Amino acid sequence: MLDADAVLDPAPSAYLSDATEGRGLRGHADAVVLPRTADEVAAVVAWCCGHDVAMVPRGGGTGFAAGAVPLDGGVVISLERLTAIRAFDPQLWRIHVEAGVLTADVRRRARENGLLFPPDPGAAESSQIGANIATNAGGPHTFKYGVTGAWVTGLEVVVTPGDVIAVGGPVRKDVAGYDIKSLMIGSEGTLGIVTAAWLRLIPAPQAALPVVACYRDTATGCTAIERVLAVGLQPSALEYLDRASVTAAAAGSPLDLPAGTGFMVIAEADGSPAEAARVRDDLAESLGEGALAVHLPEARRDVEALWRWRDGVSLAVTAQLGGKVSEDIVVGLDRLAEAIEATLEIGARHDLRACSWGHAGDGNLHSTFMVAADDEAGLERAAAAAEELFALAVHCGGSVSGEHGVGWVKRHALARQWAPRALDLHSEIKRAFDPQGLMNPGKKPARG
Ligand SMILES: Cc1cc2nc3c(=O)[nH]c(=O)nc-3n(C[C@H](O)[C@H](O)[C@H](O)COP(=O)(O)OP(=O)(O)OC[C@H]3O[C@@H](n4cnc5c(N)ncnc54)[C@H](O)[C@@H]3O)c2cc1C
Repeated sequence: MLDADAVLDPAPSAYLSDATEGRGLRGHADAVVLPRTADEVAAVVAWCCGHDVAMVPRGGGTGFAAGAVPLDGGVVISLERLTAIRAFDPQLWRIHVEAGVLTADVRRRARENGLLFPPDPGAAESSQIGANIATNAGGPHTFKYGVTGAWVTGLEVVVTPGDVIAVGGPVRKDVAGYDIKSLMIGSEGTLGIVTAAWLRLIPAPQAALPVVACYRDTATGCTAIERVLAVGLQPSALEYLDRASVTAAAAGSPLDLPAGTGFMVIAEADGSPAEAARVRDDLAESLGEGALAVHLPEARRDVEALWRWRDGVSLAVTAQLGGKVSEDIVVGLDRLAEAIEATLEIGARHDLRACSWGHAGDGNLHSTFMVAADDEAGLERAAAAAEELFALAVHCGGSVSGEHGVGWVKRHALARQWAPRALDLHSEIKRAFDPQGLMNPGKKPARG
């Protein structure tokens, strides 16, 4: 069935953790398998079902929810060898890729042909498209363009007990049957293994012009963000960093940050050069009110440097103490300032350095507690603090996860948010797809 080099036993340590390693999480597996085709994935799934062995699908291992970490043994199924571009039709704005293709490669391929694949999660150079679908990943430009799932028209998935199914395809509309495609999107490897996807593309905007505004405090910055929406502007991205995040990342900043910067907004306007310039100027006016400084980088290298820096914020925060517990709660935009301040209060109550940054326009905060990966007492306090964050999100009418998923780290969290009947339906869906409970067990559970 599989090549001899496709089974790694013992499991190499590189496959036993993800981006939660900074909070001390590391698993163990009986073996790692590296299938090359959907049929090989199906054969592995059939073997695991036949032998009652747990399966943990794995992409690039950049997840923040320990979804790909084999916490209770079993077989890790890595999709890294499924890297074919099965079809690319630039004239029809669509591409058919296998699960292991890197997100950045999809974006590059589109860009080389004048097209855009908009989802831009921060770890695009390491994360895989199949996993981005499995987490329904977001990113800065989600504000205008939506999350990964919005760009998927079809999926090939391996489901138990070892079958390859296709839902959707290269078509742009499809309402036949229940929407199994959407159930798979964001299911974090608990319902099936994505092996390939048809993705929608759009013509790339000719210009993208950022506006960076620095403020003295959160209240002034959040008021400016609300003003952008109130006057009817549509930025492609609308991001924020609070004071501690700015401080953590300041050393690498490509822009001069005025003394006293306690909050930063990064917005971007895109479209034709004239349209992008018009929206950029309007954004600068709206965001400029009450700002300490407004920067308008224009040269391509400056714009790229800005977004590279923004992508690095997570790592800069990790570098403060060598680890962090970072969540991705969502609140309505009218509660953003409250949630940012509450993150700091929760951190202080638990004697933890806290900060947040994230996708302001989507009300999506990366609320973070800095803690060394080997500081057991600190990690315990951070776990308790994270529970308070989830309670905060629910109290604000939001969600415990905007883009990273539930995985293992938020295994108790959904029960805070959903009514018992909704939780039952969640469990029944899981049973329908995976009656033996072998597909990424313990992850994304209804009740923990
Ligand atoms: C620096 C940094 C920045 C980040 N920025 C963002 C961001 O802006 N937005 C965002 O949403 N996330 C972000 N993330 C989180 C992470 O990159 C995303 O969750 C990403 O989708 C994970 O992809 P991966 O290939 O690394 O998946 P993994 O971590 O390997 O797996 C993630 C989940 O998907 C499942 N899975 C993997 N492959 C498949 C498959 N083919 N079929 C079914 N299930 C599968 C796994 O079991 C696991 O549950 C960031 C992470 C880092 C480290």
